[in-house]
Amino acid sequence: MSWSFPVGHLFGSELRVHATFFLLLAWIGIAGWAEGGAAGAAVSLLYILILFACVVAHEFGHALTARRFGIRTPDVTLLPIGGLARLERMPEKPREEILVALAGPAVNVVIFLALFTLLGRGAFEALDPTTLTLAQLPAQVATLNLVLAAFNLLPAFPMDGGRVLRAVLAIFMDRPAATRAAAAAGQGLAFAMGLAGLVTGNPMLLLIAFFVFLAAGAERADEAMKTLARGLMARDAMITEFERLAPDDSLETAATTLIRTTQHEFPVVDRATGRPVGLLTRAALYRALETGPRARPVSVAMDATFPVAALTEGLASVLAKLEPGAAAVGVLGPGGALVGYVTRENIGELMVVTNARPRGRARG
Ligand SMILES: [Zn+2]
Repeated sequence: MSWSFPVGHLFGSELRVHATFFLLLAWIGIAGWAEGGAAGAAVSLLYILILFACVVAHEFGHALTARRFGIRTPDVTLLPIGGLARLERMPEKPREEILVALAGPAVNVVIFLALFTLLGRGAFEALDPTTLTLAQLPAQVATLNLVLAAFNLLPAFPMDGGRVLRAVLAIFMDRPAATRAAAAAGQGLAFAMGLAGLVTGNPMLLLIAFFVFLAAGAERADEAMKTLARGLMARDAMITEFERLAPDDSLETAATTLIRTTQHEFPVVDRATGRPVGLLTRAALYRALETGPRARPVSVAMDATFPVAALTEGLASVLAKLEPGAAAVGVLGPGGALVGYVTRENIGELMVVTNARPRGRARG
């Protein structure tokens, strides 16, 4: 479940809004109402909408710069704590990675400078940061863009500055070590922000600290998986002992196969050629059993978009095929017949097994 839904398209990327974003809007609206009635709520909401327009501009700074290096951005999602541009892949060259990372904060700096030039220094000297009025809105938006740029330039994952730090560190050490250092900086920063949130009683700061901590950890896990994937191929990670179904097998047959095995997904294979035609997941099977007779064929419930890979295809490429939410990637033998499949879970198992070392402590 993704909890975010599309609201439109911009420069070829889908713009999505996370459901919790509306909680933030409601919270800001209610707080504004409590302080200044309907007018207060209106100004608060206007402020937050302009702020998020600046966040969107920041994300498209990344997306449009990435496009210059031939990298697409399928979607940009708005979260209560900011935006997220999901790039198809990260640029591998340090120079490109640094430029893509800096383009986001650069947009906020440009917005600040434009507003500063327009409003003049006086508007900022008279600024009262504790109240929000329509007259002061432009200067407040300008200041906020400066804060956004500064926050995102903090040299720690998952901030943009963390990517710059990683790219610079990667000149002196290997990339996984550089990633670990930038992730450790992110988790340290999250602790400091969490502590500040507790001391000052600021729930928003606590929430941001929590997200920063999680994201920094995820970045490290992601890099660990990519590092492992480097020297390996699809055949090193694939499941080779499994039950397969035929498209004309009944849902009843699929259900009994689910019970007698530990599999959660079943490749559907053409009986004559052995070629894969789809994948039946446990969730899809449950849904089908709830909505109609069990005599129907497996083909009505299977997902026909079952991505496949060759035996000698790199594991990094298999991971990329799993990324858009596929449950498994089928592995084809030389003749095109299915010989195995790879799931995220069994890549995880491979990772643990590959990295496991005796602890150096005698057992007895
Ligand atoms: Zn950014």
